[in-house]
Amino acid sequence: MRPFTYVHAIDAKQALAAGGTSGAQYIAGGTTLVDLMRLDVMRPGTLVDVTDLPLGEIEPNGAGLRIGAMVRNSDLARHAQIAQRYPVLSEALLSGASPQLRNMATVGGNLMQRTRCPYFRDAACPCNKRTPGAGCAAIGGYTRMHAVLGGSPRCIAVHPSDMCVALVALDATLRTLGPNGKVGILPIDAFHTLPGDHPDVENVLSPGELITHVDLPASRFAARSRYVKVRDRASFSFALASAAVALDLDGGTVRDARVALGGVGTKPWRSREAEGELTGKPATLDTFKRAAEAAMAGARGHSDSEFKIELARRTIVRALREAGAMP
Ligand code: SF4
Repeated sequence: MRPFTYVHAIDAKQALAAGGTSGAQYIAGGTTLVDLMRLDVMRPGTLVDVTDLPLGEIEPNGAGLRIGAMVRNSDLARHAQIAQRYPVLSEALLSGASPQLRNMATVGGNLMQRTRCPYFRDAACPCNKRTPGAGCAAIGGYTRMHAVLGGSPRCIAVHPSDMCVALVALDATLRTLGPNGKVGILPIDAFHTLPGDHPDVENVLSPGELITHVDLPASRFAARSRYVKVRDRASFSFALASAAVALDLDGGTVRDARVALGGVGTKPWRSREAEGELTGKPATLDTFKRAAEAAMAGARGHSDSEFKIELARRTIVRALREAGAMP
């Protein structure tokens, strides 16, 4: 590991001042960042520890909830209001990593989680995300864990988070603080970016901008929501395909729906195509299958990842059946 400067911030002002300097990175649980520093993939000159900022609460926010960025994943998953009112979020969190990692990982860190592409994590391999312009070892390489939606000729790395997929399905909003102290508000679906020509850019944060909260709105569909994750083993494994779905049913008709996918997209993937197939339609298996077809219509596999397209369709259908309490 390379030498770095450590700053323990005791308030937002100090964090922003240190976080805005060149080469600085915020650190909280450190469950991704420390690994990547050890692998020599990330080389921050300064680590700004934000764990003692007063951002560790889950509070009412109008009819919804406000979650501090320092809330630990395990605390969020077990919070009674989250489990009751936003079950998809609780399920997604509990499906991720291991209990030990969930006890360390924070909401803010989960939003900033980086890909598990093995070529990205191996400093000896060419990788446009790590070194812009270096090339992509995955394209033409081993792609079983790579994306089938949202890829570009420069990068096909999957976004690894489960939590973010659930947040997309819940229409969550992020609150940030800029280096000048200005509050920023943006929908979660606009936070992560597609790789395009710049896979090294993964979100719309400005240098030094700090995520402070996630707001969950009240909605008619959140209570009837499910997260289904398919993976190689039952715990401590990343998704091959996952689906976060939420349904607002009027009798047997879908009044409103959210469908978001994990394990298959270069960002947490909201499928408006699937939602369009569901809205106003009877909540039947045929409708759910049409929604799954629509969700994956634009998917493109890369040799080893072709199987994910059908796997994702089946995962969506299963999640919709479970959300609709259909056998
Ligand atoms: Fe790097 Fe993306 Fe290619 Fe993986 S898929 S090697 S992260 S450029």
